[in-house]
Amino acid sequence: MRAFSYEKATDPAQAAARAAAVEGARFIAGGTNLVDLMKLEIERPGHLIDVTGLGLDGIAETGDGGLRIGALVSNTALAADMRVRRDYAVLARALVAGASGQLRNKATTGGNLLQRTRCPYFYDTAQACNKRDPGSGCAALSKGAFSRQLGIIGTSEHCIATHPSDMAVAMRILDAEVETVKPSGTTRRIPIADFHLLPGETPHRETALEPGELITAVTLPAPVGGRHAYHKARDRASYAFALVSVALIRQPDGSGRVALGGVAPKPWRSAEADAELPNGARAVIARLLEGARPTAENAFKIPLAERTLAALMANAPIAEE
Ligand code: SF4
Repeated sequence: MRAFSYEKATDPAQAAARAAAVEGARFIAGGTNLVDLMKLEIERPGHLIDVTGLGLDGIAETGDGGLRIGALVSNTALAADMRVRRDYAVLARALVAGASGQLRNKATTGGNLLQRTRCPYFYDTAQACNKRDPGSGCAALSKGAFSRQLGIIGTSEHCIATHPSDMAVAMRILDAEVETVKPSGTTRRIPIADFHLLPGETPHRETALEPGELITAVTLPAPVGGRHAYHKARDRASYAFALVSVALIRQPDGSGRVALGGVAPKPWRSAEADAELPNGARAVIARLLEGARPTAENAFKIPLAERTLAALMANAPIAEE
């Protein structure tokens, strides 16, 4: 691990300004991903700005009936909040599907959105990786590469990594917004659909955040009701990242929403696929994964997504089924 300097921030705007002013600075909160990456020298920040003292750890009701979740609310606290369990059950279920109890105690709402891919080649500094080292190539696309865990849609010829977060998939189906403060002190709200970027030619650029910009909260709109479900298909029963995860909200009239994790560089959802819900899981997945470009190793994710959604629909029936 390389040497770094450290400071503890006391004000969000000041923290953002410092992050923009100090070369190589990174924010740190729970550190559940960043510290691992620093030990492996994949992340090599020269300066850490500790944001845990910023008081961004509350969950408050908003004027329009939604919830405002502070960026420092732990995954454990968010999953246990009675308002989340009652009105946003898909989020509570996605949260408890992630990581382990110890990690969820430390991991924060803001940090969860910013966690890096678990592509095995990203973590192996002897391998080419455009995300870790722009322009170096992509070992995951080389002949015989291990791509079972990697993406099937939204990828590019420069990177086929997936985003690993379960929480973000639920945030996507709930149409959350990410609140930030910029180094100038101005604030903005970024729809979760626009927060994570597709890799294109620049896989090292993963979010819409500008240099120094700090996540301060995530806002959920008023509850949409319906039956909520989340299932994560993975290689072992716990403490593993998704091969495919499916978030589902179904309304009594048969309409609803679907979002997928484990298949793309961001939580994957479309209004066109949502509209296919009354026609069944096969129609939804065919529309949602239209244009998918799986590798030979991960083509199984398409039928797995369909079967997982079909099982969730069977377990969360609407009244007339
Ligand atoms: Fe790196 Fe992306 Fe290729 Fe994985 S898929 S090696 S993260 S460029």
